Amino acid sequence: MKIHEYQGKDLLKKFKVPAPAGDVAVTPSEARTVAEELEQGPFVVKAQIHAGGRGKGGGIKTAATPEEVEKVAGQILGMTLITPQTGPEGRVVNTVLVEQAQDIDRELYLGIVLDRSLAQPVIMMSSAGGMEIEEVAARTPELIIKEAVGPATGLMPYQARNLAFGVGLEPALLRPAVSFIENLYRMFTALDCSLAEINPLVVTKTGDLLALDAKINLDDNALFRHHDLAALEDPDEMDPLEHEARKHHLNYIRLSGNVGAMVNGAGLAMATMDLIKAAGAEPANFLDVGGGASADMVANGFRIILSDPRVKGVLINIFGGILRCDRLAEGVIAAVKEVKVQVPIIIRLEGTNVEEGRKLLAESGFTFTVATDMRDAAQKVAALVQ
Ligand code: ADP
Ligand code: MG
Repeated sequence: MKIHEYQGKDLLKKFKVPAPAGDVAVTPSEARTVAEELEQGPFVVKAQIHAGGRGKGGGIKTAATPEEVEKVAGQILGMTLITPQTGPEGRVVNTVLVEQAQDIDRELYLGIVLDRSLAQPVIMMSSAGGMEIEEVAARTPELIIKEAVGPATGLMPYQARNLAFGVGLEPALLRPAVSFIENLYRMFTALDCSLAEINPLVVTKTGDLLALDAKINLDDNALFRHHDLAALEDPDEMDPLEHEARKHHLNYIRLSGNVGAMVNGAGLAMATMDLIKAAGAEPANFLDVGGGASADMVANGFRIILSDPRVKGVLINIFGGILRCDRLAEGVIAAVKEVKVQVPIIIRLEGTNVEEGRKLLAESGFTFTVATDMRDAAQKVAALVQ
């Protein structure tokens, strides 16, 4: 799960990682009040969207006075901000962060990611801050210092020193840099982050280290033990159907095709998407209703698929193991009764109680096309959506 910069900075401060003083606003006059309550100008007004590269897109502006903060907040709020990370459609800005502008001496990079091949968190630091780390890695990889952290030992003090020393910090800054790194790592593990990226981490003219930006991603699979963090989710930043699916605990990802697919089990869902493609069509979504799905969950999943106007046909591919075929059929029939279905539905059922399931579908009074096997199902649906 992604969160906004201001939310990330609030978390950083809880873990004693220094960041500029500031607060959020949703109207220009609120932005002015935030500026008035900060010690002194100049100020920076920053668009809060789940994408980086905001500076170049006009989403970050400086202002000398609270009056000017109000003016630039008025320009940024409501704008559709296009950055290299938003795609051409951009994002509408609903919130701004107003913070104290810093007198920057140097911009560094500090990031913690999970290295899946090492199965360990890796801390990366670079003297080339402020630009995309991918670009630094491609052009000047020698400017990136890395330390992998063994989960059993934790971050060793010498590793934090290696990083701070490696990016050329002068002796007086080594100690604060080590605490900065240690505290960020503490947050990374305590909150089950999948990414904690500070770009830039600045050295100010007065010799302070500050997190000027914060990109914190949280591991969705660990949110069950961080209820306070789950509340940080911003529905405006999510695909509305994905948001709806999450409420029903469904594994749903929206794709660009026109064949809606409802499948139980992630592996079967992947295989079904491959077969849809092999048959010459494109899936509109990935939906795994889960091995233990109830008739209710099936009905919810079905409703979500059908509320996507691009869907021209639905393929239901279920292997009845834990989810019995008759319960699936009940779910599908309940959903079809509720939603006005205007597209063809192809069903392939196999497994526990398959006969009962097929019977229920046949006697439901609705027209479903029943396929003999997976390939047949994919070919039938592909032919119907052409
Ligand atoms: P993004 O990564 O989306 O472009 P950043 O938060 O990294 O946004 O900001 C981009 C640039 O704007 C920074 O590299 C820095 O130069 C400047 N900037 C951001 N916040 C401040 C601040 N509080 N004071 C001074 N300059 C800032
Ligand atoms: Mg940044």
